[in-house]
Amino acid sequence: MLKPMRSRGVVARVPAKVNLQLSVGPLGSDGYHEVTTVFQAISLFDDVTVATALPGSGITISITGDTAHGVPVDNSNLAIKAAQLMAKTYDLPPDLIIKLKKEIPVAGGMAGGSADAAGVIVGLDSLFELGISRDEMESVGSKIGADVPFSICGGVAIGTGRGDQITPALAKGSYNWVLALSGQGLSTPSVYQECDRLREGLSIATPQVSEPLMQALRAGDAKALGKALSNELQSAACSLRPALRLVLDVGVDYGALGGIVSGSGPTVAFLVTDDEHAMDLTVALSSSGVVSSVVRGTGPAAGARIIESF
Ligand code: ATP
Repeated sequence: MLKPMRSRGVVARVPAKVNLQLSVGPLGSDGYHEVTTVFQAISLFDDVTVATALPGSGITISITGDTAHGVPVDNSNLAIKAAQLMAKTYDLPPDLIIKLKKEIPVAGGMAGGSADAAGVIVGLDSLFELGISRDEMESVGSKIGADVPFSICGGVAIGTGRGDQITPALAKGSYNWVLALSGQGLSTPSVYQECDRLREGLSIATPQVSEPLMQALRAGDAKALGKALSNELQSAACSLRPALRLVLDVGVDYGALGGIVSGSGPTVAFLVTDDEHAMDLTVALSSSGVVSSVVRGTGPAAGARIIESF
């Protein structure tokens, strides 16, 4: 039995992610790869509003924001999928208004869709005062997509399995990122397929967490972290989108501490020393002609959280 609600709607703020490490195991018989990844949430956010609606109106969605273009408004939207799953699992009224204000790039390897699903889960928990534990929210989220549990958790965390088994990691310090965005996204399944093609005939080990990376995070050492960044999907993303190599070169030329394709790309994330360095690299990338836009962020950022209720 649901309690009477104290608010009509809530707004959840959810961060983007970069993968500091992404190691990809062999293709499993279920068609998925076992991965070991280290996520860091960064300060680019989608704001997800969930509100009650008149009985019989069903779930409606509206999308605004810098990166709203091209986001589906039908049932394939991960925010709607999350709302349907939450309604079914917790017996909630199926009439909801969802509003997405998007800042996270779409199909950019930064978990934009997953962030919106995470926002809906955390939002509905708060709106209907369900009192679900974070673990349970992450478990519901993993049914929507592998990156959803981390979007709920935030901070820095290790992801195993499909990246959906999350263990928060010890990390010190704050890190400055410059993100080079592409005008056109890359599809995650096609990048994995290209990775399989490039690795055909090779024997692939079970992925392990990188000890130098974890040590750099524990020490809060940005320089060491820059050196330890690794992404086994990077060659595949660059093979499908050769211009990404040029983007990575600009970062090296301008002294980035490290540069990496984020997840399945095509966003390239550069770790820099400070604000001034971030500004220099932003100008260099913007004038290089090889990126469509450049944004800056810092990490780690908090996971999905309620910022407003009305
Ligand atoms: P990941 O890093 O988790 O692999 P991504 O950041 O590369 O994901 P998304 O932004 O999640 O990619 O979008 C991938 C595809 O999912 C988009 O092309 C879009 O069609 C679809 N999609 C579904 N729901 C959403 C949403 N709420 N926001 C953005 N894209 C969505």
